[in-house]
Amino acid sequence: MSDQNLRCDFCSVPGPAWRYPARSFVAYCAANIAGESVGDWAACDECHALIESEDWQRLTQRSLDELIMNHPEAIAAATALYEDLAALHQKFLEYRTGPPTPLGVSAV
Ligand SMILES: [Zn+2]
Repeated sequence: MSDQNLRCDFCSVPGPAWRYPARSFVAYCAANIAGESVGDWAACDECHALIESEDWQRLTQRSLDELIMNHPEAIAAATALYEDLAALHQKFLEYRTGPPTPLGVSAV
């Protein structure tokens, strides 16, 4: 796992700071946004904070906002995508295997 190309698995921003151990699973979302989830999940500081406070609604909204920023055409399917992302995050909870560990990215 190379830190350089890592992106947050929740909101896709580069440079995640946390790693959540998880088992692999297959999840299909609308518009091929997410396919297979292989192993650990990376999370940025903000998503990490939302995960730790179990603020799933905001986490899902954040993921959706970032997704639409990167794929403006996805706004047409925003409601369905929100449902898909929420379901994906539920799966993450199910398949998560332990507490998060810092990725050890050097301070900026
Ligand atoms: Zn994030």
